[in-house]
Amino acid sequence: MSCGKIDLKCARCRLSKGRTQVVPGIGSCSSNIVFIGEAPGKDEDLRGEPFVGRAGKLLDQALSDCGVSRSKVYISNLAKCRPPGNRRPRRDEIAACSVFLESELETISPEVVCALGQTAAERLLRKRGKMSSLTRGEHVIEVGNRRMKLLVAYHPAACLYQRKNTASFKKSIRHGLVAAGII
Ligand code: URA
Repeated sequence: MSCGKIDLKCARCRLSKGRTQVVPGIGSCSSNIVFIGEAPGKDEDLRGEPFVGRAGKLLDQALSDCGVSRSKVYISNLAKCRPPGNRRPRRDEIAACSVFLESELETISPEVVCALGQTAAERLLRKRGKMSSLTRGEHVIEVGNRRMKLLVAYHPAACLYQRKNTASFKKSIRHGLVAAGII
């Protein structure tokens, strides 16, 4: 189930031209943690669900290693439409889509947000940083009037390209679930 406001016919940015469909977040609207990636890829664009391709399988695995199924958490993206050729969503595309992410976060009101990858981390923190330092410790963000803990994990796709990131990725997922009181 998706939470918050979404416009399945959205044409706020150029990504609407190349998509098969809008891909809203999915999961439990009472989840105490929300995972946020970049934007849907090819598999997600076809299925209409975030993180269902190879990277998604790794996220599911990291969750299930902690005894948690994806239906117990909430998973979304900065941009809800697939960028052409799986390029990174641009700043103006993310900004055009932010109303939907903010609505998801305000509706769910989780204690913990976990940014998957540098693009999500930098957008949510509104500052640049190296992944090696962003993934360390806990940050705080404000959404509406609510303060939320922000943790940064490597993007699961970055683990597919560089296996050495996998241990850090899994550790961050566990850290998020513990911080959210889920495990
Ligand atoms: N990568 C993302 O950032 N999000 C998805 O939904 C799939 C792959």
